Amino acid sequence: MHEMSLVRDIVDVVLDACRGGDVARVSKVRLSIGELHDVVVEYVPPLFRYLARDTIAADAEVLINVVPARLACGACGAVFRVDHRDPRGWACPDCHARDGFSLRSGMEFMIESIEVEDAEDETAGTSPCVPPSAAARTASGMTSSAEDPMLSEALAACVS
Ligand SMILES: [Zn+2]
Repeated sequence: MHEMSLVRDIVDVVLDACRGGDVARVSKVRLSIGELHDVVVEYVPPLFRYLARDTIAADAEVLINVVPARLACGACGAVFRVDHRDPRGWACPDCHARDGFSLRSGMEFMIESIEVEDAEDETAGTSPCVPPSAAARTASGMTSSAEDPMLSEALAACVS
């Protein structure tokens, strides 16, 4: 399991991208993950929030676009989707070649976009009675690691 280090890289890139601006918090992060990547996609959002805890990205919504695996046939040039769980069954639908393919998609692991709220929006949208830091603590407290079964599962999988 290497989700932990992959997601840590993503968190680092997101925080780096927000550094120096008037960013109050990261609201949404969109990722593209190829289905050939050996990643349990369901683990990524809870791991992201876990690794980004105590940062401006702690409450970010993490959306993942799973990119299907596509191959190009070296013999006839056809591009076709394959079942990523069954590499031995891969064959060109046009000329029935069973090898000589090149990968067109399916190994992506990238950030598509980062949505942020800037410092001014945060001030305008927050009640003066509740400082933003207190509000953030309340929000992250509701999804603490103990209460998020997917995070517990992801952490267990990544540590073992
Ligand atoms: Zn072919």
